[in-house]
Amino acid sequence: MDQPELRALEHRCIQEEAPECTAACPIHVDGRAFVGHVARGEWPEAWKVLRKTMPFPGILGRICDAPCRQHCKRREAGDPIQIGDLERACVATPPPAARIQPLPRKGKTIAVIGSGLSGLTVAWDLARKGYSIRIFEPGSKLGGLLRRIPGRRLPEAALGEELERLTALDVAVHLNVDVEPPQFLEQCISENDAVFLGLETPLGRNWNISRDDAGWIIVDPMLQATRRTGVYAGGRPSMVGLSPVWQAAEGRWAATSIDRFLQKVSLTAGREKDGPYKTRLYTSLEGVDSLPGVAAADPESGYSLDEAIAEARRCLQCECLECVKVCAYLERFGAYPRKYAREIYNNESIVMGVHQANQLINSCSLCGLCERVCPEDFAVQDLCLQARRRMVRRGKMPPSAHEFALQDMRFSLSERFRLARHAPGRTDSARVFFPGCQLCASAPGQVRRVYAHLMESLSGGVGLMLGCCGAPAFWAGREDEFRQVGEGLLKEWRVLGQPELILACSTCLRMFSEHLPQVPTVSLWEALDATNLPPAAAAGTVLAIHDPCTTRPIPAVQEAARRIVKRLGVSAQELILSRDKTECCGFGGLMQNANPDLSREVAARRAGISPLDYLTYCAMCRDRLAAVGKRALHLLELAFPDAADPDPAARKGPGWSERQENRARLRASLAEEFWGERAGAMQEEYERIRLIIAPEVAELLEKRRILVQDVQRVIHAAEKSGSVVIHPQTGRLKASHRPYRASIWVEYSPSPEGYVIHTAYSHRIEVLGGPRA
Ligand code: SF4
Ligand code: SF4
Ligand code: SF4
Repeated sequence: MDQPELRALEHRCIQEEAPECTAACPIHVDGRAFVGHVARGEWPEAWKVLRKTMPFPGILGRICDAPCRQHCKRREAGDPIQIGDLERACVATPPPAARIQPLPRKGKTIAVIGSGLSGLTVAWDLARKGYSIRIFEPGSKLGGLLRRIPGRRLPEAALGEELERLTALDVAVHLNVDVEPPQFLEQCISENDAVFLGLETPLGRNWNISRDDAGWIIVDPMLQATRRTGVYAGGRPSMVGLSPVWQAAEGRWAATSIDRFLQKVSLTAGREKDGPYKTRLYTSLEGVDSLPGVAAADPESGYSLDEAIAEARRCLQCECLECVKVCAYLERFGAYPRKYAREIYNNESIVMGVHQANQLINSCSLCGLCERVCPEDFAVQDLCLQARRRMVRRGKMPPSAHEFALQDMRFSLSERFRLARHAPGRTDSARVFFPGCQLCASAPGQVRRVYAHLMESLSGGVGLMLGCCGAPAFWAGREDEFRQVGEGLLKEWRVLGQPELILACSTCLRMFSEHLPQVPTVSLWEALDATNLPPAAAAGTVLAIHDPCTTRPIPAVQEAARRIVKRLGVSAQELILSRDKTECCGFGGLMQNANPDLSREVAARRAGISPLDYLTYCAMCRDRLAAVGKRALHLLELAFPDAADPDPAARKGPGWSERQENRARLRASLAEEFWGERAGAMQEEYERIRLIIAPEVAELLEKRRILVQDVQRVIHAAEKSGSVVIHPQTGRLKASHRPYRASIWVEYSPSPEGYVIHTAYSHRIEVLGGPRA
């Protein structure tokens, strides 16, 4: 990813855009932060938010006319937040101490003519930037029109305090100045580096400066520049009504222009958001109750502090986070996609040192729900998948992330499982059933039964292909390996006469339709829906239906599954976040390999939505839900029940070793039953090694993702080479072997019945200079 790509991605995520109140405020007070502090009664913090942006919070906070109010998002669910009234309540509390630290002196002077709010703002902003300010006020006191505001609204003391803060800076005040003569302006221009004209103040009528037909000095509305070089103006009441915040804003824009003019940099660059603008921030109002505004008991004196807090608590604290709300992964990493894009970009720039974002990149399930709910279609799955591919290409992908799943896939592509046959007794097949590796691992009995049913029900012959669609390689970012898997599948499909594939797994369906579009495919559920189904034993039950995340863009599959459920006489209750917004079970994208804890959390979160037993039509979804204690059924268990299992919803999914054994056994039994092939010779020598594994050790192996077959390999290699270590106290043997990109250690004791396994662990690390699998 290069910088422009990163910027484009960052721009897509609008979470950091300003809320409506801030965007609509002419000086962009952070309304959300301010109101948030008020809601928590944090008055000094609320003060500080005002001070950060407002030129004189003690003044403006009392008289602000709050043009932001009519844009506040709360107006769509009740009354808008009364931010102006909250400001008044805040500035009536004691201000926290503040130290002003002006920048080093710049050696330039600015003349400010008139000390209304615009002129005072210019003086305040530029004095803090290190300019020397000379204020020329025709009246006898600083403040201009501010002095006419009734004291109950703007007490003299409050005005005085703020003006003292100003005059404590490098600001020279000249009162009772006769500004009328034409030479006054000329003198100001010649003796200063720039001049600001406060238009709230009556100025010289005969000055040499361009005016419009009504006699007003012509001012550029964005830059606040007059037609005389170095002379700026703002705060004209007829242009801005009597809005104090607009007067302050014009002063601020003029101060920015003057600073840039004197620094000889562009007056216009990057100033699109100087004034009010339309924010891109999206805030959902789903589940937000309409609430009326809080009325002050005494409107004359405004909100009490308690009333202000109650009003502030109505604030929605506007933000997007639509994706984070539905994704435990995004939530777990504590931020949102805009930040993740930056983290991933930085991660790729690291040559030496720790790649902090590896876990972030590899933990996403690539399910795409974020894109579905994002108002800007931000696809985190694309971001993470591309990053994985780049890591693989650069040799930076740690084997610990995906190696176990890739080995499992390679097993499914090996002769131990792979098979491609025409329907028994035929030399052609109109269709071929492809159950996928996980269904065969989880429910081999159902695979056999549904295959027999398809052969019976569909004309033209139904062949069988056992194998893996390559999804693990795709998810792991291994483009070459994924391509090779695809080429292998295509070859088998061509040999079978290019039949239509009936796919039981929606991940397989997506892999084929998106990457091998020349292969005609149909989901098992659509195919089954066209057949007569056997009567269901579970008729009359109510189950909550969980759609696999890979079916999200294929509603036809979801509909077919529901039709079958209905035909079986079962009621399917919809979960929140179903169909096009269904959630991942925590298996997709190899999340389970890279981040097992998070994967469990994702499954548990999904399992907790309904107390009903779940019904799904993906083997991994079923097993992931079952692994967190949820009663869950696969649709095939409902349609083709196993007479020997009276309660399939209680079935725990098989462990990793058993999954491979199930596949190998299924292949052998189907080959024998339907094609009369005996596959006994396929057993490897190491598989003859007999192991004795206590349940707690088996659990440990499962957790550490060490297969029984791997333990057998280690002992087999050790017995052949004699390379073992004997523990001096316990007499146990310890050996290691590296069957693929993982080193496995096993502690064991030989016994007449077999090898007793005490423990095992693995290191999925790359040993530099060592052999590569
Ligand atoms: S949904 Fe997520 S990615 Fe999309 S704009 Fe909102 S925070 Fe950003
Ligand atoms: S609801 Fe709160 S954050 Fe949103 S616009 Fe209104 S004041 Fe601002
Ligand atoms: S792809 Fe799925 S897991 Fe990844 S960020 Fe999006 S919603 Fe979350």
